Amino acid sequence: MQLAEFDYDLFVIGGGSGGVRASRIAAGLGAKTALAEERHLGGTCVNVGCIPKKLFSYASHYSQDFQDARSYGWVFESEPKFNWATLRDNKDIEISRLNRVYATLLANADVQFYNERATLLDSHTIQVGQQQFTAKEIIIATGGWPFVPDIPGGEHAITSNEFFSFDTLPQSALIVGGGYIGVEFAAILSGFGVKTSLTIRGSSLLRGFDTEIADVLTEEIEKYTTLIRDNEVQKIEKRSDGKLLAHMRRGEPLAFDCILFATGRKPNSHNIGLEAAGVEISADGAIKVNSDYTTSVPNIHAVGDVIDRLALTPVALAEGQILARRLFGKTSRPVQYDIIPTAVFSHPNLGTVGMDEKTAREKVTNVLVFRSKFRALRQTLTGGQESTFLKVIVDGDTDKVLGAHMVGADAGEIIQGLAIAITAGATKADFDNTIGIHPTTAEEFVTMRTPSP
Ligand code: NDP
Repeated sequence: MQLAEFDYDLFVIGGGSGGVRASRIAAGLGAKTALAEERHLGGTCVNVGCIPKKLFSYASHYSQDFQDARSYGWVFESEPKFNWATLRDNKDIEISRLNRVYATLLANADVQFYNERATLLDSHTIQVGQQQFTAKEIIIATGGWPFVPDIPGGEHAITSNEFFSFDTLPQSALIVGGGYIGVEFAAILSGFGVKTSLTIRGSSLLRGFDTEIADVLTEEIEKYTTLIRDNEVQKIEKRSDGKLLAHMRRGEPLAFDCILFATGRKPNSHNIGLEAAGVEISADGAIKVNSDYTTSVPNIHAVGDVIDRLALTPVALAEGQILARRLFGKTSRPVQYDIIPTAVFSHPNLGTVGMDEKTAREKVTNVLVFRSKFRALRQTLTGGQESTFLKVIVDGDTDKVLGAHMVGADAGEIIQGLAIAITAGATKADFDNTIGIHPTTAEEFVTMRTPSP
């Protein structure tokens, strides 16, 4: 009998969204596959990202819902109280369940799982705990890790990672950074009753999103969070009473119970043997890959947050799937990076797909913009002033819808549906010919008739 040249056809390092998906697809196509993960299965999304964050987002919105309920006729004998430990522990139970689901998925797919750290020894050899294996193909899907700028006293700050398992809820918090995590945590903490401030080094939140949409959301966020613009935390000092003093680039130091950095994430590309295997990384640590997700070494590939594309779970899933299919004999449609729907789970939500207005004006000569800003029906009885804002960007020459953006309740759910239409190449006439569902917020997307300047 001829001995196999390698122990595995595929070895995947990293058990997050991209790695698990790639390994299951590969095994399903007949590849002898193994996956190593040193922590819990599910990666950032399941353990310290999308899932616990969304659960916390639901939890924090109850404070508003309880207030609104009175206008809808509900009477409470006493004020509802929030118990942080109950939420945190219930969340932990759900995350453990998901970890087990992931393990079962791997086992059912015949993927050999090693709950160990794996490092490359050379382009085909992997050290896994005390064992060594060889593999014909290797996929690196090690994700990313929150980045805290190197400032004096930075060790007193936390990131979203630590917040998920906090012992007690702080009374006051400063969030640094106005991207996805900063904006989402501002809503979450405020909803829990934490006195929340958010500081950004520039003048606006959510750089890279449609500016008008970001501005509308900023107005909403400023209703519950103190926004400190054009400033930076330069030093953190821990006072004897336990408070953290943020020394700012401008103005007096500010005292908080907690300082949370949401200043982006760095790829997890260090100390996994990339140098030994000859895999090139860029200056910011991202693994360099070509359009097929292959690194500078032909049999080593990478997907997800460890490469320099979009750090979003569904993108990692798509990349992992496409790569595994290609390696083991199937073709797939490539990821359309210019039409990636995404949502920020702030209060209210922000949802977006396709081009923002600025990009559209750079790429297309005749841009039409349709806008609608209103107070949603649910707000009418409560006197709530939350704005809902919808925006559709159209190529006036071809009538093709280039982008759709929204701030408002359930924007993520609504934009997901529109993303199908936009991915399929829908025109504004298709939107106009679509019958609305009344009364909904989403029906506005099919009733906007007049472009605005
Ligand atoms: P983002 O890249 O979204 O935002 C980082 C923020 O930090 C920006 O406001 C940036 O400012 C600021 N910043 C960066 N460096 C510094 C610094 N040295 N000092 C002060 N401010 C700084 O990162 P996040 O951490 O919010 O999230 C990481 C990624 O995770 C996201 O990009 C996204 O891909 C993913 N994610 C997705 C979610 C979703 O789908 N709902 C939810 C959470 C995360 P500036 O604009 O000036 O550069």
